[in-house]
Amino acid sequence: MHTSPVRHPVAQQPGWPDTEALGTVRHRLATSLPLVMPRESDLLKRRLAAVADGRALLLQGGDCAETFRTSLPVLEARLDTLARMAAALSGPTALPVVVLARMAGQYAKPRSSAFEERGGITLPSYRGESVNGQEFTEVARTPDPHRMLRAHEAASATLNLTRALVGGSPTTTAAYVPEELFVSHEALLLDYETPLTRIDPYSRRPYAGSGHLLWAGERTRDPDGAHIAYLAGIRNPVAVKIGPTAEPDELLALIKRLDPDQEPGRLTFVVRMGAAAVRENLPPLVEKVAASGARVGWVTDPMHGNTYTAPSGHKTRGFDAVLDEITGFFEVHHTLGSHPGGIHLEMTGEDVTECVGGLAGIRHEDLPARYESACDPRLNREQSLELAHLVGEIAARRRAPSWR
Ligand code: PEP
Ligand code: MN
Repeated sequence: MHTSPVRHPVAQQPGWPDTEALGTVRHRLATSLPLVMPRESDLLKRRLAAVADGRALLLQGGDCAETFRTSLPVLEARLDTLARMAAALSGPTALPVVVLARMAGQYAKPRSSAFEERGGITLPSYRGESVNGQEFTEVARTPDPHRMLRAHEAASATLNLTRALVGGSPTTTAAYVPEELFVSHEALLLDYETPLTRIDPYSRRPYAGSGHLLWAGERTRDPDGAHIAYLAGIRNPVAVKIGPTAEPDELLALIKRLDPDQEPGRLTFVVRMGAAAVRENLPPLVEKVAASGARVGWVTDPMHGNTYTAPSGHKTRGFDAVLDEITGFFEVHHTLGSHPGGIHLEMTGEDVTECVGGLAGIRHEDLPARYESACDPRLNREQSLELAHLVGEIAARRRAPSWR
């Protein structure tokens, strides 16, 4: 609807073999109910304006890749964990915490290689439940557009129960749930996002109907690419992942495209440099953006720059590296006088063994025991809570000078 694939190169799309089925699916999505309302996205934008100004903190978290196979206890555990993490961030800082789940739409994954080879057989890479199946067979790995209908259904079911729980369901087993919660995912699959985009009858502007906030990933953030063109066309708050190769001028180009009117809360940069690079790479970006007069939000994703392969072959991340990147991110902003807006995590409320370290003492040898992620390794419940307590303390320390 608002993208022109002719003018803008489209990265990371599945290459659906059945284009007729794709047309049918797009039509069905376009005639389905949207999952979220424009006024909710506007409210999140106001909350994110407070994050950009240092008047609130953002807690964004959830699976790397959601799957269709889920359950109510898993959802309750995630909401309970997010609520406890929000309390841990809010207590020491006395700041409100905006809870933004990576959920109800996080079904598509960008891949570094389009193909995967195993034992001499080459098949398309797994691109998330809304594209193909994880199983290493030709049938499972062939992109099937009908999966986007299942993604819409799964997102809508997840959101339905989330709304009941956040509203205070009398029957939940979760001890805590956030008082207010928004949902977000990477706007990767334009064949899903575009048909779910609707004109808001009040403002007559287009809004994504698939989630409150959408972001462009590190691999699709080309200012001249189709993903940024799509985000530029919607009025939701949007975010962009910023990796270690990003140049200051690229950020200025993204601001020009995505936030030309300098609308408070519209644009958040999610920085994912890696613990070893953040202290060196982030300052020139923050300085150049600040000098341009733009008022964007800055958030740290301490997961994606700290992934490595354990001896067992599992992708993992170390708790210490995650904490170190967060610490570096807060240090940089403290030094420059800008606002560290919060954290973006891959986490679950389950007792999985995917990331190593923390008080839980998970070791490389423990990874095979409960490695359940469909894609990247997530902090488990205990690691998430421990991290949130530590970040609350870091954030409170950093705020101290402004109180004097
Ligand atoms: C992700 O958030 O799962 C992801 C792929 O991140 P990035 O685009 O930053 O690599
Ligand atoms: Mn990931």
